[in-house]
Amino acid sequence: MQEESYPESRMKQNYDVIIIGGGAAGLMCAIQAGRRGRSVVVLEGSHRVGRKILISGGGRCNFTNKQVTPQDYVSGNPHFCKSALAQYTPEHFIAWVEEHHIDYYEKQHGQLFCRDSARDIIQLLQQECQLASVDIVTDVNVQNIIAKDSGYQLMADEQTMSCQSLVIATGGLSFPQIGATPFGYDIAKQFGLRIIPTTAALDGFQLDDELLVETATLKGVSLPVSITTNGHTCSEDLLFTHMGLSGPAALQASLYWQAGTAITIDCLPDQPAWDWFMEMKEHRGRALLKNLLSMLWPQRFAAWFCQYHQWSELSLNQISHHDLKNYAKQIHQWNITPTATVGYKKAEVTRGGVDTNELSSKTMEAKCAPGLYFIGEVVDVTGRLGGYNFQWAWSSGYVAGQVV
Ligand SMILES: Cc1cc2nc3c(=O)[nH]c(=O)nc-3n(C[C@H](O)[C@H](O)[C@H](O)COP(=O)(O)OP(=O)(O)OC[C@H]3O[C@@H](n4cnc5c(N)ncnc54)[C@H](O)[C@@H]3O)c2cc1C
Repeated sequence: MQEESYPESRMKQNYDVIIIGGGAAGLMCAIQAGRRGRSVVVLEGSHRVGRKILISGGGRCNFTNKQVTPQDYVSGNPHFCKSALAQYTPEHFIAWVEEHHIDYYEKQHGQLFCRDSARDIIQLLQQECQLASVDIVTDVNVQNIIAKDSGYQLMADEQTMSCQSLVIATGGLSFPQIGATPFGYDIAKQFGLRIIPTTAALDGFQLDDELLVETATLKGVSLPVSITTNGHTCSEDLLFTHMGLSGPAALQASLYWQAGTAITIDCLPDQPAWDWFMEMKEHRGRALLKNLLSMLWPQRFAAWFCQYHQWSELSLNQISHHDLKNYAKQIHQWNITPTATVGYKKAEVTRGGVDTNELSSKTMEAKCAPGLYFIGEVVDVTGRLGGYNFQWAWSSGYVAGQVV
């Protein structure tokens, strides 16, 4: 599929619907409203729409997940996402992708990716915007939003514009380098909506200087683990980096982590270490523990882990049962207290946002400001790694698009 540039629109003064933010949620909402015959404009602050889509999923956009449940999201109100997710499901989006002949594949755990490029999803959205006669204007600076008797008025690049419905789809704070701004939160506050404090999430962990020096030799090492934090267990690969802990397990765990608390890493999630020690004793009792462990782990990690925990350099037969019991425990319960998550520059999402108690879960309209809507990541609904955040953007954009 060739990428097309979207025909740049001249801004009109009056629209039925003005959508601020041309990301996944904003474009979905625009298409739905446009299909209903509403006059719609998307005002995008950066030089093009969908920039996050373009870089998502390593350039292949993990656009949804085959199995999406409310439990895949973190929110002050875990029930809030149910209505939108039920109204617009992964099956709906997949059907759309297929209608547009976009080739896709399941990577793992139901995660669906474009086979060629994330550009395919942007092109799908742009084509549908064109069919729905949606105006898109980029590089726009929006200011001075005020409520009028029936609708909203704002200034966009020195021009006054008005609309009946105003949709805020400006996303979260992650990746400021490609246009993320706190605009959505500021507008919410202006209209008296509460904000759940925001933090960077799906970004992994930073370690204190001491542990960072200790783990320096592990840079690039990856192994399957389970990380438990705040009552959630995330089982995937862990990657050691120059900043600390990354890889899907650490990214996933950073969504649930509360600052100042420890994470528990199970370095052998699929088998009890004690049983394995006993089994090894029968046939390989004269081998050194670190050599045995390198049958299960990357060699560098096995050597490092034994040294870090000051395990004796003895053969398995020479280590007491008491010590082996402790070693098994340390393998399954390695406790680390990260100093912080990695931060917004690397975070896939922002946890927190517009308090869901302030919005209708069926339409995303602000309860205290009729005609004002918040959709996508700006809302306090944050998905796990694996296509859930795009599904939330599609679903919340869709439901608002039915009523704006
Ligand atoms: C590197 C990376 C990879 C990711 N990969 C995946 C993935 O594979 N699968 C998945 O489900 N999720 C992924 N995510 C998360 C996903 O991209 C977001 O959750 C999703 O894009 C949110 O959609 P949105 O429309 O709410 O916000 P965004 O996509 O962030 O769109 C918001 C738009 O508003 C614009 N904007 C901001 N401020 C203003 C302003 N003041 N005026 C006008 N416009 C403004 C922005 O430029 C942007 O275009 C990834 C995120 C990152 C950073």
